Amino acid sequence: MKQITIKNDYDVVIIGAGPAGLSFACSLAEKKIRTLIVERSSIDSISNPQPDGREIAITHQSRKILNELGVWSLIDEDEVSLLKEAKVYSGSSNSLLDFDAKKSSIEALGYLVPNYLIRKGLYERVLQANNIDIVSDISVEDINTNNAGAEVELSDGIKVKSRLVVAADSRFSEIRRKMGIPSLMKDFSKVMIVTRMEHEKSHNHVALECFNYGHTLALLPLNGNVSSVVLTVSTDNSKEMLSLSETKFNEMATEGFKQKLGQMKQIGERHSYPLIGVYAQKFKAKRFALVGDAAVGMHPVTAHGFNLGLKGQDQLSLAVKRAFDHGLDIGSDEVLNDYERKHINFSRLMYFGTNGIVALFTNDTFVAKKIRKLVLKFANRFPPVKSLITNHLTESKKSNLIPF
Ligand SMILES: Cc1cc2nc3c(=O)[nH]c(=O)nc-3n(C[C@H](O)[C@H](O)[C@H](O)COP(=O)(O)OP(=O)(O)OC[C@H]3O[C@@H](n4cnc5c(N)ncnc54)[C@H](O)[C@@H]3O)c2cc1C
Repeated sequence: MKQITIKNDYDVVIIGAGPAGLSFACSLAEKKIRTLIVERSSIDSISNPQPDGREIAITHQSRKILNELGVWSLIDEDEVSLLKEAKVYSGSSNSLLDFDAKKSSIEALGYLVPNYLIRKGLYERVLQANNIDIVSDISVEDINTNNAGAEVELSDGIKVKSRLVVAADSRFSEIRRKMGIPSLMKDFSKVMIVTRMEHEKSHNHVALECFNYGHTLALLPLNGNVSSVVLTVSTDNSKEMLSLSETKFNEMATEGFKQKLGQMKQIGERHSYPLIGVYAQKFKAKRFALVGDAAVGMHPVTAHGFNLGLKGQDQLSLAVKRAFDHGLDIGSDEVLNDYERKHINFSRLMYFGTNGIVALFTNDTFVAKKIRKLVLKFANRFPPVKSLITNHLTESKKSNLIPF
């Protein structure tokens, strides 16, 4: 990490060095926009991130953005796996929805990349940029903004002025609250447990999403006979699942996927994440913008949180860079209104649609089970629906729908 002395004046201050904050910084890297990133966790956790069980399904458009940022080439290609097909099952029935890259004549529906490698690549790119300072082990404690400028107060007592403050401080954003921006929060009372497993048979790069009664089991195909297994259980069952012996966990997965992959064996650590969705009611305030999960914290079932965060920061950075190139105020209402309008348009249907899917597919009443079978059958037999969803995944045509 570059040793820096924090200056007391920047063009942009970014709060949070997670994937969204780092991506936004990378987007400003080619410009002379003086940028400070403030991260409260340790230097080791951002410079040398460790596997956290998340395998991020990257859309074609996200890959393009990461490529333009100079980050895609920093990710070890042996760790990128192709997602060629996705199948959705409901209960024990055979009704399923199937998305196949071959049918759209493309290499893959998307790319699976370990989250820690995305974070590592973004951090490396930030280090290459001369206009970006990054500090760790310091949090932003307070923020004041007005027409003239913004000021953030850091936990070490230093005050930093800027023209724009961007909060990428997670779905539980304290800064969003400090700025008086309300958000809709949806506590699903569920926990997602993720781990890597090895199996006897090949997955053929097909992802599986099984909405079983009582819990959801998903499989994301990684390179070799290895997959990421994602188990969603209610919070009251999560302790039991996390403490299950490896033998029992292996049996549960083998049977849960109906032996499609033969015997399965856990090879990674189990990680758990509480499922809470968040949609901020505004994405901006005076000289202030929210990006990443701080703006929209998605339920992971449609694999869109990071993709959405990447797209959002791209929209914001384009507006900021346009203003900068014309010698205009980069923190003006015009810049922020442009970002907010575009990001609401892009994210609203995706967020509420995802929550609708979760509500329907995790409701085990008789009526809900019937409706979801009908929905799956309809979607599978009605090619326009499938091609819209596939186009959304691959971003081959304009669409604003949800993958699976
Ligand atoms: C199990 C799982 C699977 C997922 N799969 C996918 C997928 O397939 N595809 C996809 O697109 N997305 C996926 N996601 C979502 C994706 O991981 C998140 O959307 C993404 O990590 C959010 O990044 P972020 O930078 O907005 O927030 P975070 O990663 O939460 O980072 C926020 C940062 O801000 C820092 N911070 C907080 N407060 C302060 C402060 N006051 N001062 C300084 N720093 C502060 C924190 O320390 C942290 O480093 C998944 C998520 C989970 C849980």
